[in-house]
Amino acid sequence: MKFRERLARFFYGRYGSDGLNTFIIIICAVLLFIAMFLPLLPSYILRGGAALLMALSVFRMLSRKIEKRRKENAVFTKILYAVKSFFIRQFNRIRYIKKYRYRKCPGCKNHLRFPYQKGEHNVKCPRCGQSFTVKL
Ligand SMILES: [Zn+2]
Repeated sequence: MKFRERLARFFYGRYGSDGLNTFIIIICAVLLFIAMFLPLLPSYILRGGAALLMALSVFRMLSRKIEKRRKENAVFTKILYAVKSFFIRQFNRIRYIKKYRYRKCPGCKNHLRFPYQKGEHNVKCPRCGQSFTVKL
């Protein structure tokens, strides 16, 4: 019981894990997996990198500066969302190439989907209301 109390006291007020930490640990696992198939020197470099990332992950988990760690995670989440939506958009472009075409609004840079009909069309952006011409 005493050990449990001490453990609980140790972890009280510390940040814990989040999405960024999970991502760092996955990167570590990938680096270690790749290192298995490499010759000695590059393998050691990758293992060293994985060890540093693991140390960073442990540092973030045990950190008491919760607000700072939360902000780091928010930046990470934002970047991850942008990367994810980029790949989903590219996937959809290919998947629906016969039905739709995708263009950006020149005003707000919003991504718009148009049913594929050859020719020039005057359109209005649903987000910012700007009218412009698209060539499909
Ligand atoms: Zn717009």
